Amino acid sequence: MSACRTPLPPETLLAYWLGELDEAAMAAADEHLLGCVPCGDALDALIALGDGVRRAFTAGRIGAVVGPGFARRLAERGLRLREYRVAPQGHVNCQVGADDEFVLSRLSAPLAGLDRLDMVMHPGDGGPPQRAEDIPFDAAAGEVVVVMPLQRLRALPSGTERVELLAVEPAGERRIGEYTFIHRSAAG
Ligand SMILES: [Zn+2]
Repeated sequence: MSACRTPLPPETLLAYWLGELDEAAMAAADEHLLGCVPCGDALDALIALGDGVRRAFTAGRIGAVVGPGFARRLAERGLRLREYRVAPQGHVNCQVGADDEFVLSRLSAPLAGLDRLDMVMHPGDGGPPQRAEDIPFDAAAGEVVVVMPLQRLRALPSGTERVELLAVEPAGERRIGEYTFIHRSAAG
């Protein structure tokens, strides 16, 4: 197996996997990956890091919900991480720096004993809410870890987005946390 002279950077592979590259970048990455074994292996390794990862939204609007070890392992690979921890009913001021390679939100919530958890994102631009059903969560750690869609965050104007966690139970739905992200655009 020959080495790759122009390897796709880890953040491009991450964005590719999250489905948040634009059409041209996606086509370029696809073409590269078709002909390049080392980069294909790197992508496979990245996906394998996600222990139980499921894509929450294919459109890349909210990102992916990942297992608890994912962030640590990405950081071990040298990616620059920005992290936001948010308490239930909490809020956080957030912005994306030019050097950030990925952004994580850690939503803490009382998760013990839950069977199914849904996440609903209310975008700040007044667009329709986005719902991810039956997301993975770490009941012992009491948190949901979300890889935020970096390309989208970079393009986002200043505004406020809300995320709700809903326990889905036989008796109905119960809101167990609401998280407010007060986003400040780098453009001001
Ligand atoms: Zn390559």
